[in-house]
Amino acid sequence: MARKNRKLSLKKRYQLLTRGLGWEPTYQPVDKVFPYDTFEGIHVHDWDQWQDPFRLTMDAYWKFQAKKEQKLYAVIDSFAQNNGHVNLTDARYLNAVKLFLTGVTPLEYAAHRGYAHVGRHFRGTGAAIACQMQSLDELRHAQTQIHTISHYNKFFDGFHEWRHMHDRVWYLSVPKSFFDDAMTAGPFEFLTAISFSFEYVLTNLLFVPFMSGAAFNGDMATVTFGFSAQSDEARHMTLGLEVIKFLLEQDERNVPIIQRWIDKWFWRGYRLLTLVAMMMDYMLPKKIMSWKDAWEMYYEEAGGALFDDLARYGIKPPKYADVAAKEKDRVSHEVWAIFYQYTQAAAFHTWDVSDEEMAWLSENYPDTFDKHYRPRLELWRKMAEDGNRFYNNALPQLCTCCQIPMGFTEPDDPTKICFRSSEYGGDTYHFCSDGCKDIFDYEPEKYVSSWLPVHQIFQGNCGGADLGDVLKWYKINVGADNLDYSQSPEAELWKQWTEATKQTR
Ligand code: FE
Ligand code: ZN
Repeated sequence: MARKNRKLSLKKRYQLLTRGLGWEPTYQPVDKVFPYDTFEGIHVHDWDQWQDPFRLTMDAYWKFQAKKEQKLYAVIDSFAQNNGHVNLTDARYLNAVKLFLTGVTPLEYAAHRGYAHVGRHFRGTGAAIACQMQSLDELRHAQTQIHTISHYNKFFDGFHEWRHMHDRVWYLSVPKSFFDDAMTAGPFEFLTAISFSFEYVLTNLLFVPFMSGAAFNGDMATVTFGFSAQSDEARHMTLGLEVIKFLLEQDERNVPIIQRWIDKWFWRGYRLLTLVAMMMDYMLPKKIMSWKDAWEMYYEEAGGALFDDLARYGIKPPKYADVAAKEKDRVSHEVWAIFYQYTQAAAFHTWDVSDEEMAWLSENYPDTFDKHYRPRLELWRKMAEDGNRFYNNALPQLCTCCQIPMGFTEPDDPTKICFRSSEYGGDTYHFCSDGCKDIFDYEPEKYVSSWLPVHQIFQGNCGGADLGDVLKWYKINVGADNLDYSQSPEAELWKQWTEATKQTR
């Protein structure tokens, strides 16, 4: 039988995919089929107003992604065959990659699950399809990162139990709890949290530093997966903006709900990014730019324009963005100090800061570094030279919301630790900031169940009572994965390699 118009236009095919796929259920009421998209108080009147962000049919998607995979795996292979790791600036760089693999890669997988879940629960087909594609992208990101970074596991420490560590190690509860919070929220909050606040507003502060950091430090394998994820990222950012505009245009009762989510997820995302701040200013042997400059460029300038644009819907810039601005010349120093003191319990190394690095820090932080942070770093370096490298053996108090040890300071006084607390159900809960306290106070029932690593250790739930027991439970190889870089087997190995290459040159 002859068929006319067998080949439909891309536009028509996309139309059928995202508009023609849904149906009115007859066996069950529609609210039973989609039980989660109303309880948050979001009103959607017309899903057809949804602007599809991706404009990609499924077959085009697979072809596109397959091409990118081919390229990426060719690069990874040649990197491995040519011992690409010996061209790194310094093996210290890899500690940033360890933090990425244990902290970020599992979030890619969590995003895969999160988008699959919310995609199922939107009654608009366009939104469901967009979430499905992002879910597939995120699975790919997790896989390509694991494959790329696995090369380093052949030669270096700290890469061997990333998945296990993500669920247990104290500082990894910071990224884990961030994503768990989003995944246990309703579907519209999840999209506001991840698609808008994280992917649209803050993502450049995660990926640009890691990918440029990789490029600057000779890690071509990581640069390649970064590039491979970039076109996906562009789609994700579009989804983030579209979802916000869609919700704001559907009903004005949505506005205050969205505003609260923007405030919450800006602060949660920003607190998470303080790990990136430390990475940029302290962990990259060859620096790209300071955290302060990155914050100004990617948040203050780009975010400023975005929130000017959203003002017509009645949306204001995130609450406490002013606090983040006040903290921009201190957070990296504060977070590095936490990790330096607790490297005995971490799956990556820290080290004493050299004179050249201190010169860079004081140039980039003229108002704060020499005054507040240099003296401490010099004292620690002196102690290490005297054979008394400083490790803090007391467990820190954690913020109940962001789960970071309480090492942040008062917005207007960088010499005073910032403590906030709330009473709930007869107990006192502690916070690092007004931002974290606000989040708790709005939904205390959610955060009283937080799995706080230090509390869990004290309750005996982490393998035992002393550090050795806990590290065993973390699967940290003592003496190889943890402690100061200068004493590590990989520092020794790196020294041998670089001396050998010098000789052959
Ligand atoms: Fe991703
Ligand atoms: Zn906090």
